[in-house]
Amino acid sequence: MEECVFCKIVKGEIPSEKVYEDDTVLGFKDINPAAPVHVLIIPKKHIESINDLTEEDSNIIAHIYLVAKKIANEFGLKEKGYRIVTNCGEKAGQTVPHIHFHLLGGRTFKWPPG
Ligand code: AMP
Ligand code: ZN
Repeated sequence: MEECVFCKIVKGEIPSEKVYEDDTVLGFKDINPAAPVHVLIIPKKHIESINDLTEEDSNIIAHIYLVAKKIANEFGLKEKGYRIVTNCGEKAGQTVPHIHFHLLGGRTFKWPPG
């Protein structure tokens, strides 16, 4: 996707503070952090939202959770707790139409979210 800001980050056309990278997944710090630890984990493949997932994306989504676990460990969140959030659609707060998983930690979170 040429216009997509996260695809541009994947291609290195926009700078990012990477914390994890492999063949299929990228993790980088959110530019406007909502918690002391706020990492975005994305598939390198452009998928707009959860609504656009297919069976063939199953492995990548499972892999993203294992990457989240690894990053959470590295940031010392294993015992402290953390939250993983994916907004789907504008009304749910999705502002970037490339599926992403917010890994949030380092503070206390309320439930339910606002
Ligand atoms: P969402 O509102 O769930 O779509 O989340 C999009 C997130 O992407 C927001 O938390 C933004 O702060 C973050 N974001 C947007 N542009 C960038 C960027 N260039 N680098 C890092 N994070 C970004
Ligand atoms: Zn994209």
